Amino acid sequence: MSASTPITQDVMTIPRKLPEGPVNLVGLTRDQLRQALLDMGTPEKQVKMRVNQVWQWIYQWGVRDFDAMTNLAKTYRAQLAEHFVVDIPEMVSKQVSADGTRKYLVRIAGGHEVEVVYIPETDRGTLCVSSQVGCTLTCSFCHTGTQKLVRNLTAGEIVGQIMMARDDLDEWPEPGVGTGDAGPRLLSNVVLMGMGEPLYNFDNVRNAMKIAMDGEGISLSRRRITLSTSGVVPEIAKCAEEIGCMLAVSFHATTDEVRDKLVPINKRWNIKELLDALRAYPKLSNSERITFEYVMLKDVNDSDDDARRLVKLIQGIPAKINLIPFNEWPGSPYQRSDWARIEKFADIIYKAGYASPIRTPRGEDIMAACGQLKSATERARKSRAQIEAEAGLSQQ
Ligand code: SAH
Ligand code: SF4
Repeated sequence: MSASTPITQDVMTIPRKLPEGPVNLVGLTRDQLRQALLDMGTPEKQVKMRVNQVWQWIYQWGVRDFDAMTNLAKTYRAQLAEHFVVDIPEMVSKQVSADGTRKYLVRIAGGHEVEVVYIPETDRGTLCVSSQVGCTLTCSFCHTGTQKLVRNLTAGEIVGQIMMARDDLDEWPEPGVGTGDAGPRLLSNVVLMGMGEPLYNFDNVRNAMKIAMDGEGISLSRRRITLSTSGVVPEIAKCAEEIGCMLAVSFHATTDEVRDKLVPINKRWNIKELLDALRAYPKLSNSERITFEYVMLKDVNDSDDDARRLVKLIQGIPAKINLIPFNEWPGSPYQRSDWARIEKFADIIYKAGYASPIRTPRGEDIMAACGQLKSATERARKSRAQIEAEAGLSQQ
């Protein structure tokens, strides 16, 4: 503020701190929204009510036009429209697989693109959400890992993917109707298993999930949100404490030697350190169990010995093991394990007392399956040599 700034402003009505250009309200936490409305000149004694009203319009009823927010005075709506926008990422294309899976290509600020996948099942519908454009990590079986990190998504871009999918599924209740009133939801679950490592974009992921869980909005229970991490150990307890969602971990190997190659972050935090953090998670987050994701790679990690080692390693951790048949992508250096091998592996785990579902690949015909996501516009592929060289690099 310059020395000549007048100090006699009426702070109730004159905007103080808002930056130039309209601010996007999507992705602001309740506290941030409160501050933005105060900065616009909303009187202190009204602000709590205004936050609730605006929040409900945006997140409960999916309304983006201030003029349609009919329980606000016309002048107030005009004031909002002058300072703010309600903006979500733009859907560039939608592909629908033979099995009903929908893959959306979504454009975010800067012209970058991420992919979002909706997977309908009989009793639920799961949205697989991206948290970064590209990934800093270089897991050798993952398509996204061949794409450099371009940038973290903002909280608005993360929760905006859920809002975009609700638009496409036509699943916003009529104004005045509660979110849960219309029976089972088409979009009932969210998994942070799209592009990127969510725990390397912690604050934005947390804020976005808090918005998605808010009872006066999208209102997803924390039990219906699963965050998948490759094993960013120091952030795992934080995830329990600050988000409290379900946790999945990309485990994929039973020795440090193999895991170093498949999930290079293992060189930073090895299997033992990871398991220690996972052991503490259910209690910290009050969730029942951890999902161990295990991609089945022919002759790499799929032997009976691997299965036996796996159950031994996770002993004492309430767990489910999700076996993921490897999804190939152009140039991928691995093959999917044979079906009989996968079943044998599953059987050993099952007999040891763990649920061991084999994840049916969904949306393969449109490259929407796990690990196949990569934005078409950012196809600059790294060479295998480069991936391997970078696998030795440590993370920030
Ligand atoms: N970065 C996070 C979340 C995104 S990956 C993580 O690594 O956990 C989501 C899941 O898909 C992870 O378990 C990942 O290991 C798995 N995956 C990646 N590439 C795959 C592929 N080609 N086939 C099968 N699963 C894959
Ligand atoms: Fe990144 Fe996850 Fe892919 Fe590894 S598996 S490269 S952490 S997106």
